[in-house]
Amino acid sequence: MTYDPNNIFARILRGEIPCKKVMENDHVLAFHDINPGAPVHVLVIPKGAYVSMADFTANASVTEQAALMKAIGDVARQMGVSDTGYRVISNAGEDGNQEVPHLHFHVVGGRKLGRMLPRAD
Ligand code: AMP
Repeated sequence: MTYDPNNIFARILRGEIPCKKVMENDHVLAFHDINPGAPVHVLVIPKGAYVSMADFTANASVTEQAALMKAIGDVARQMGVSDTGYRVISNAGEDGNQEVPHLHFHVVGGRKLGRMLPRAD
């Protein structure tokens, strides 16, 4: 999957499309998912143009990588799910069912989330 500079998250980062912001710093933006799958469903994205974790860890600075990891934990605390539990998901590529080709982490919680994956059989 290649990076499309006109993907929806790139447009949110450029301010062309609004979002419901949760937190922001020099390297990261977090905002509510427009179609939440749980009471808490926040997307955490790097500000740089990376498509996946493989791309990010190969090409982002250590500072960007640390900032993204920290933001995920900060968002879980900020959303009040750090004690009750939550799940962090990053879909990548075709097999991962990635819809938006800008690296993002779903932070979901606020209810029992069940099994991580449906059984294949
Ligand atoms: P993924 O399948 O991992 O690429 O997930 C993409 C996510 O982006 C989905 O959960 C969508 O609901 C969410 N999404 C798409 N457009 C927007 C938007 N404009 N604002 C917030 N979330 C969005």
